[in-house]
Formats: sequence, C-alpha cells, structure tokens
Amino acid sequence: MTIAGGSLCAIEFPAMVGVIDHPQRGLFLFDTGYDPAFLEATRPFPERLYRWTTPVSIGDRERWQVWLHSHGIDEAAIAGTIISHFHGDHVAGVQHLAHLPVHCARAGLAKLRAPGRFARVRNGLLAALVPPEVDAHARFFEDAPVLTLPTAFGPFSEGRDILGDCSLLAIELPGHCAGHWGLAFETHEGRPVLLAADAVWSGRSIAENRPPPRLTTALLGDTRRYRATLGMLGAAASANKDLTILPSHCAISAKAFCGKDVAG
Ligand SMILES: [Zn+2]
Repeated sequence: MTIAGGSLCAIEFPAMVGVIDHPQRGLFLFDTGYDPAFLEATRPFPERLYRWTTPVSIGDRERWQVWLHSHGIDEAAIAGTIISHFHGDHVAGVQHLAHLPVHCARAGLAKLRAPGRFARVRNGLLAALVPPEVDAHARFFEDAPVLTLPTAFGPFSEGRDILGDCSLLAIELPGHCAGHWGLAFETHEGRPVLLAADAVWSGRSIAENRPPPRLTTALLGDTRRYRATLGMLGAAASANKDLTILPSHCAISAKAFCGKDVAG
C-alpha cells in the first residue's frame, strides 16, 4: 500500500519526529509521532478501525518523559510544535505541548474539527488526540508571510515564513490529505533540508518516481495532486544534489541524514 509494484507483506512504518534546535528561539518539534494516547483514542468504535488497519506498537519507550529523556531533550526548552498534517500518527503527542504555539494549516485543523466521526476515521483523523487548547494556540501557515525560497529547493519557489525570521519556511505539499505541508530550512552548516512529512513515504519512492497505489492515495487524499507533488520532489532531488528530503516514515533517509540509528 506504500509503493507501486511493491509486494504484499507487513512492513515497519516508524512515525518520526523532527527536533529542530533554533539558535535563538529554542526547540521546535516537527510533528509529534505516536504516544500512548493513541491507544486510548482508538479504543472505542469506530476509531478502533484505525488501529485495526494500521496496527501500532507503542511501548514504554514512547512515553513522553521517557522519550524526551532518551533523546536528551529538555522539555522546558521546547518553544512550539510544527504540525505537517493531522493524521493520528503525527499528532498523538501534541497534547503534551498544547499550551505552546502550534504552527499548522488552517485547512488541516478545520478538517479535524468537521462533523462526522466515521468520515474522520476514514480520513485518518482522531480528534480526541488534539485538545481544544491547540485551536487556541494555533498559528496558521496560511497567515504567515510568503517568502521566495532559496534556489536549493527549486522547483519549489515559495514558502511561508512561520517564525518571521526566514529560518523555517512551510511549503504546501498537496495531495496526501487536506492541509498537508512540509518544512524547508538550512542547517547551521548551510545544508538545505526539506521535511516532506507524508508527501512521500520513502526516499526510494522519490528516486524511482513510484507513488503508492492509487487505492491508497485516493482513500486519503487526491491522487492527481499527490502525484504532482511527488513529481516536484523528484525534480527538486535531481536538480539539487545537496538537498536532503526527509519523509516522516523513511528510517533509511533519516539514518543517512543523522548518521545514526534514529528509528528507535
Ligand atoms: Zn499522513
């Protein structure tokens, strides 16, 4: 279900969190991954359907304080979260940071709050994971100033300056679901990075231009737009050899970037 022409077998699908250390503003989490709250949110029906279709493994290592400690993260240093989209595997931990600014898409949050429990589950949305406090602290990508992106991200040309200092630029990557965005920035070594969230599920999918089967992309979002975005990612990867594109669920790409095992 994740790549065209792939075999039918169960695969591991880590839900990763980006930890961005801004030199002046503090730490920002890009998405919040799984959390034991996911198990609670998927206990009742119809939310349980989510857990049946994508069985999860959440253990003690995913508990908030344990996860922070094992990654050397000081909770007090976290300045906010940046949410690519509101699928359950990206927002299960946002409740821990709901008192801080949450940078996200208005379109994505609106879909999460739309009526229709079955429709939400079918769309991978678990409203219980995102407390109302998040709505109060939301800072929408759509309202941030438009900036021209550095050429290292071409053919992507525009981003939204979410902190107002040109450091973190949100880029809409449409197709996966309503309100789906990625994040572009340069590391302190000047390395361009694009956090692609679920615009693509593996580096291989970009390199070989192999999208997930139409069944998967049509169920979650818009296949035509998804494939156009994947084409843009492929063009960016081949035009900019220094650009690192990191999908949220590709441990191979993350390991190559970090130079260590980040899958755990
Ligand atoms: Zn998703």
